[in-house]
Amino acid sequence: MNDIADTRHFRGTGQEETAQERWARFKPIATGEDYLNSLRGRKITCYLFGEKVQDPVDHPIIRPSMNALKATYDLTIADPDLASAHSPLINARVNRFLHIVESPQDLVMKNRMQRRMGQITGTCFQRCAGLDTISVLHSITYDIDAKHGTPYHQRYLDWLKLAQANNIIVGAGMTDPKGDRSKRPHEQADPDLFMHVTRRTEQGLYVRGAKAHMTGGLNSHWICVMPTMNLGEKDKDWAVVGMVPADAPGLTYIYGRQSCDTRALEQGSIDQGNAQFGGQETLVVFDDVFIPWEHVLMDGEYEFAQEMVTRFTAYHRASYVCKTGLGDVMVGAAAAVAEYNGADGASHVKDKLVEMTHLNETIYSSSIASSHEARQLPSGIFMNDAMLANVCKHNVTRFPYEIARLAQDLAGGLMVTLPSQSDFEHEIAGPLLEKYFKGRAEVPVEYRVRMLRLIENMTLGRNAVGYLTESMHGAGSPQAQRIQILRGMDVERKKDYARKLAAIPVKVVS
Ligand code: SF4
Ligand code: FE
Repeated sequence: MNDIADTRHFRGTGQEETAQERWARFKPIATGEDYLNSLRGRKITCYLFGEKVQDPVDHPIIRPSMNALKATYDLTIADPDLASAHSPLINARVNRFLHIVESPQDLVMKNRMQRRMGQITGTCFQRCAGLDTISVLHSITYDIDAKHGTPYHQRYLDWLKLAQANNIIVGAGMTDPKGDRSKRPHEQADPDLFMHVTRRTEQGLYVRGAKAHMTGGLNSHWICVMPTMNLGEKDKDWAVVGMVPADAPGLTYIYGRQSCDTRALEQGSIDQGNAQFGGQETLVVFDDVFIPWEHVLMDGEYEFAQEMVTRFTAYHRASYVCKTGLGDVMVGAAAAVAEYNGADGASHVKDKLVEMTHLNETIYSSSIASSHEARQLPSGIFMNDAMLANVCKHNVTRFPYEIARLAQDLAGGLMVTLPSQSDFEHEIAGPLLEKYFKGRAEVPVEYRVRMLRLIENMTLGRNAVGYLTESMHGAGSPQAQRIQILRGMDVERKKDYARKLAAIPVKVVS
């Protein structure tokens, strides 16, 4: 254990919590209500709109994102076969978001659960990146130990048993801010632009840096910090994986705003479109945050960073099947609004719904095929097919935009010219709006307004983050998938197939 000369202000106290103390404050979570209560009273520093948030749980902008995670607990009660599984680690049923992948069927069930969660919430429910982190750590810690004789895999299993027993949420702290993209981590003018180890002691190590775009960061109980890209020997201090409680000293959350988020501060909930559920992205800053050795799962094994990222993206890019659940909501909303408008009998309306469904099911087919084609890794865990996962995510960077375009087409311009809920409730303006915004006679105007606001929410408003922009950039932007597809497409072998049929000597395969 070497101390690193840290020339700048160091904030560790030297009297840090032990691994046991860190777990001692958790109680097993059974229900969605338990989950919300588990987030109350934590000592967390979070900024939103230039102010410290006193109570995130009851903050009107933050709460919908917590409700989406709450639904992952509620689903295990409503549909235990779908949302829970037997864990041999603790010999008990656990939430599927904490279950290790024992078979291709586990991955298929994960995808089905993700689609269902998308249908229920209409947004990003924030728990999959943590599940995919757990999955990749099983095999990576095993592989590092096999090469270096390190104790990471057992540490991982010990941590996971407690995570399963307490039914916690783990957030994936992967994306570093990255600074100058032309420079490696150790070459950056500011070393903190990639998370790195600042000091090692007998008890553990300290990390400094930040994780950006952290999905559900503030709603998590634990955060796993891990490298964001391939690393070289000089980047050894940046090759760190560790588990950190979300309320550990030294953490600061800065809440990312989303379009139309302040509608949650207005009177009434109709204009929000989906007042109940939302996503969450935060910048999480780590200022010399302590990690006891029991929770350190990589420290310096830089050569595994690339493989870790590759396996993580294979899992996570197939997780983007979540967007098919949102796509189901989009198809339903477009069909409903066409019905309210009296246009549902038109053949072009049906054709547009068919096109939306075709695109949505194309995403689903690539994800579910990726899971069926899973293979076993040396640690015993299964990993879905990387090529099909990249194809799935690449489809997701495109098709939701077309599905959203068709939903807007069917919604009509009223979606973006509708007056506010307050106007509908006004004594003079209200009756005028009721009269002139009537569609089908038997359909209340309010239904029409609500459905249009839902489409607005998912294609322009708060949950357009979850349905569109996250589809573009989450789990890697489109070019990242194209690089992986290029690596995996084995074009030389395919040239041979052609050469053979054209009676030209083959080069790679016979
Ligand atoms: Fe899960 Fe989808 Fe959100 Fe990622 S974008 S955390 S896969 S719901
Ligand atoms: Fe994501």
